[in-house]
Amino acid sequence: MEWIIKGIISRVESKDYYVLSLPDHLEIRCSLKGKFKKSFNLKKDKLYHTDIAVVGDLVEFELNADETGVIKEILNRKNYLSRKAPRIRGASYRGERLEQIIAANIDEVFIVTSILEPAFNNKTVDRFLVATESSRIKSNLIINKIDLDPNKTYSKWSSLYRSIGYYTLETSIITGHNVDTIKKLIRNKKVLFWGPSGVGKSSILNEIYPELNLKIASISTSTMKGKHTTVTSRLFFMEDETYIIDTPGVREIDPYGIKKEDLGHFFPEFNNFINACRFNTCTHNHEPGCAVLRAVQDSLIPEVRYESYLRILNTIEDDINF
Ligand code: GDP
Ligand code: ZN
Repeated sequence: MEWIIKGIISRVESKDYYVLSLPDHLEIRCSLKGKFKKSFNLKKDKLYHTDIAVVGDLVEFELNADETGVIKEILNRKNYLSRKAPRIRGASYRGERLEQIIAANIDEVFIVTSILEPAFNNKTVDRFLVATESSRIKSNLIINKIDLDPNKTYSKWSSLYRSIGYYTLETSIITGHNVDTIKKLIRNKKVLFWGPSGVGKSSILNEIYPELNLKIASISTSTMKGKHTTVTSRLFFMEDETYIIDTPGVREIDPYGIKKEDLGHFFPEFNNFINACRFNTCTHNHEPGCAVLRAVQDSLIPEVRYESYLRILNTIEDDINF
């Protein structure tokens, strides 16, 4: 009889090798059964391959005699978070950007930002939020480094995102403000931490779970272009049912696979108005009888969010990706 065991992918080494996390901090290195590669039609020379198995995937595997394994089944994903894969260097034509999956089977996402160093960028936050909304994953916002902002300019942003319905926490690892709150919030969940580089994501995670021992960028390297301390997503089993997925810091993300007429649905505060638009294909840009535009004029929708919306809408128009 074959022994089939379940595990969660914690790290992708290559398209052939995966590290699985098992209960009690056990890890096992697995290869992938050939049938998956055939069904994905992978070519060796491809720079970007469609992700076959990703961090967070639940898999079934068989144990080999040498304590490695072979993945036999990848179980259906309850959800997954993705973005457009970065542009391939030197690529000249459009339509080449594939979907890059960050991780699968996520309970909640924490989008980590800082109020200063680097300065809070609401346009960037909104792009992250559109990506999580379009994957239908609950997301929360962390505004870190509030010790650098004695005038509390961050409260303008936390109130804005709270008014939309996003759980928003102001934190500092210098004063320890709200760090314990995060630890309580993530208990018994699979949570993913995502955000721009240098905001203090690794510092926060190390405060919560010192055993993670993630690399912290020194002030000088964190501002240097192209220096990343994490290269791919990684999942860590912490305790009980608590798993943390750490992701590489990025400068910008482009949400993947969103149609112009759907974008408004990923701004939750638009949803009270969208049905009142004259046209059901309204993109809330310049169309007559647009109820979203009217709500912006009546200050029922925050103008900064509408500006973000228009920016993302324009990048979708420029793309011929789907
Ligand atoms: P990551 O790229 O988001 O993982 O950021 P790091 O955790 O590597 O931190 C980047 C820099 O910000 C490091 O120099 C940290 O010491 C610093 N840092 C992190 N959190 C805070 C904070 O709450 N306040 C201040 N003043 N600095 C912080
Ligand atoms: Zn409209």
